[in-house]
Amino acid sequence: MRSPAAVARKVSIVIPVFNEEGNLPTLLPRLLPALEAMGRPYEVVFVDDGSRDRSLELLRAAAAQHPGTVKVVELLRNAGQHMAIMAAFTETDGEYVITLDADLQNPPEEIPKLVAQMDAGHDVVGTVRAKRQDTFFRKAASRLVNRTTSVITGMRLNDYGCMLRGYHRDVVDVMTASDEVSTFIPALAQLYARRPVEIEVAHEERHEGESKYSLLKLVRLNFDLMTGFSVVPLQLFGLLGFLTAFFGLAFGVFLLVRRILVGAEVQGVFTLFALAFLVMGVILAGVGIVGEYVGRIYQQVRGRPRYLIRRVHGGEAGTEGAGGGR
Ligand code: UDP
Ligand code: MG
Repeated sequence: MRSPAAVARKVSIVIPVFNEEGNLPTLLPRLLPALEAMGRPYEVVFVDDGSRDRSLELLRAAAAQHPGTVKVVELLRNAGQHMAIMAAFTETDGEYVITLDADLQNPPEEIPKLVAQMDAGHDVVGTVRAKRQDTFFRKAASRLVNRTTSVITGMRLNDYGCMLRGYHRDVVDVMTASDEVSTFIPALAQLYARRPVEIEVAHEERHEGESKYSLLKLVRLNFDLMTGFSVVPLQLFGLLGFLTAFFGLAFGVFLLVRRILVGAEVQGVFTLFALAFLVMGVILAGVGIVGEYVGRIYQQVRGRPRYLIRRVHGGEAGTEGAGGGR
């Protein structure tokens, strides 16, 4: 799918929504004035990621109330935040595209800062959350992920998690053309960026409701990030395997020599158990990592649509009917 011809200077805001009925009534009244104040063309493209609450109803009402500026991409089922954003990208036509969370953790008042950077010629504007407002656990986990990802992928990004980011149309087009089944948008954009920049933005607590990421979903997302942008995990395990084998061999030789010089030893059976469990654990973890890659290859090979657009509400004629996304 290709995005329509870009409109110069226009800013398209993309917002993924998954069960956010508590936040939507506060979001638009803060967002629209902030956009209006910039004095340039804009549009807001919401994507309803298979919400089960009243979100879609509220979004459709908003689209009806602001024809031409508010659009709603309705997905058939939950595709996950990053795929939902991908789906929305195909419905934008601004020269600049800015993503935002629906829970008001990214203050809409920060948007002009991003636009200013893009006006200055940066094609990807990343953000770092100043005084991040999340639980201690999330912050600690996120710090770990940011560090390891930087090392593994070799990308210089300080905060992968902040989704208030700006992308030039050129970058958006390449992103939508990359049909990977699982992806992580900030990392993908970084890959295609020519002149990226990172700025600090304010961060607030989630306005209403709870995070839509369960621990499992969070772990899976981070696996997407690790496996999607690097094969270093595989190489590390290969290296670890070689090292273990080498030490095993050295240990065997040592025991043989010892047997000749000192005689057979029977003690230390449990030490052997411990070592065996350690090695088995390492092997299982390695198989698991290989499995992560194989699973993703399998998904990719099946070639099912990554998301299914049921309808697009608002916009010009209100495109109707189902559409699949590659
Ligand atoms: N989201 C989505 N699909 C999902 C999960 C989340 O579209 O499967 C949206 C959610 O509605 C919100 C944004 O992605 O607008 C970020 O989600 P959330 O605030 O739950 O993540 P957190 O801030 O806890 O990382
Ligand atoms: Mg949030």
